[in-house]
Amino acid sequence: MSRPVRVRFAPSPTGPLHIGGVRTALYNYLFARRHGGKMILRIEDTDSQRFVPGAEEYIRESLRWCGIEIDEGVGVGGPHAPYRQSERREIYLKYALQLVDAGWAYYAFDTAEELDALRREAEARGAAFAYDHTVRERLATSLTLPADEVRRRIDRGDQWVIRFRMPENRIVRMDDLIRGHVEVNTSTLDDKVLYKSADALPTYHLANIVDDHLMEISHVIRGEEWLPSLPLHYLLYEAFGWQETQPAFAHLPLLLKPTGGGKLSKRDGDKMGFPVFPLFWQSPTGETARGYREDGYFPEAFVNMLALLGWNPGTEQELFTMQELVEHFSLDRVSKSGARFQPEKARWFNAQYMHRKSAEELAVLLQPILRAHGIEVSDERAGRAADIMKERAVLATDLWDLTSFFFRAPEAYEEKQAKKYWKGDNPAILRELRGVLASIDDFSLENTERIVHGWIQEKGYGTGQVMNTLRLALVGAGKGPGMYDVTSFIGREETLRRIDLLFERLAPAE
Ligand code: GLU
Repeated sequence: MSRPVRVRFAPSPTGPLHIGGVRTALYNYLFARRHGGKMILRIEDTDSQRFVPGAEEYIRESLRWCGIEIDEGVGVGGPHAPYRQSERREIYLKYALQLVDAGWAYYAFDTAEELDALRREAEARGAAFAYDHTVRERLATSLTLPADEVRRRIDRGDQWVIRFRMPENRIVRMDDLIRGHVEVNTSTLDDKVLYKSADALPTYHLANIVDDHLMEISHVIRGEEWLPSLPLHYLLYEAFGWQETQPAFAHLPLLLKPTGGGKLSKRDGDKMGFPVFPLFWQSPTGETARGYREDGYFPEAFVNMLALLGWNPGTEQELFTMQELVEHFSLDRVSKSGARFQPEKARWFNAQYMHRKSAEELAVLLQPILRAHGIEVSDERAGRAADIMKERAVLATDLWDLTSFFFRAPEAYEEKQAKKYWKGDNPAILRELRGVLASIDDFSLENTERIVHGWIQEKGYGTGQVMNTLRLALVGAGKGPGMYDVTSFIGREETLRRIDLLFERLAPAE
């Protein structure tokens, strides 16, 4: 195999990119990097009916967030520019006509009404309608009309399409890098439209094959939903005489619902409370969808999780940096069967990355959250607070709840906790503890712990009771880290102030 590796991600801008699409882009990228090849981004926007403004930007932003770099394509340029199919529209007609001339395709002049009538007729017979050789023989096409009539209709501006003339009863033999050898009889296939005069645009099939050829694509790695199109694509390469340079194909398994049955859909996400899109999305009509980024996931965790949905490294290793994925990735280890998406696993991956973050990295995450709550602190303090709590955090968005008490006194006291501890001797003991704390000069974690602990021992108090009462004052709830983490972080004055606040606000119950 001496051909340079060139792969492409070729999304249609019909809405936000589903995580299955991100995985396709990722596998293409890993494959390109693994083999020192090029990753191309081509936007397939020839279906003007389904075009959604903003979708292309969304796709590019998603790839950027994931760290999937584009070597050539939309937004980057390259030797085969333009890479947006709507900007390549002049290219395709010539190829469609080449197929007509060679007898591999034909003009069809049928109207929507004629097709509807044939569809109804088929349904009445209990058969599924397919535009195949039996149909094309009954309609006005360049196969049934004399050449001068075809010319006349085109010249007077009748609408036409060019359809592929599917051979009858031929076995198409195909090879897929994931599925192996596949054979299909062409009698099960219909005559797909390749080009439409109405908007002077090719359909997906024609534009896709022509561009893969012109862009010298070596491997087509795409979702399983395109497998049914593969026989047509093989035949198109044959019809053009491009078999020599035909790319190798790899069809990736579907992402399945968490329950296993069926393809993962947006509705599953809505029902079960997880995003199926990388980024938050708002459609031009105002519909919104959650995204992993805005939900507090890290791109490296998201990418790691996606990489293992359908591919396995053959070892027990689960955590991979992008670089490690590049080193280990191979299509041989992509499975044939669907990969079940597990939201819990996505959270698990994120937690692993959270736990490994340094205080400096955590500060970068926490600072904007603090600022949004009107809190200005040094990076050092933000990082330290988050570092103390990171083992309990899963998402970046958890950090506020987990660390807010480091930066501000409780505004209220959790009822259950107050009921449990703000009674009996505890308030009096807390007052005593206040005196002990007020006398400590070195408020470091170790020193405070040593002195308070000695005092508890001496008095014979219950450590749990004392600490939880203090917790009520400092945190206002039953959560949080060890109390000496909090006292040493907030310092003596703030510790005493919070104790006083509790006394001011709550009259102790007997
Ligand atoms: N435009 C197609 C899509 O939206 C590309 C399929 C392919 O990669 O051939 O998925």
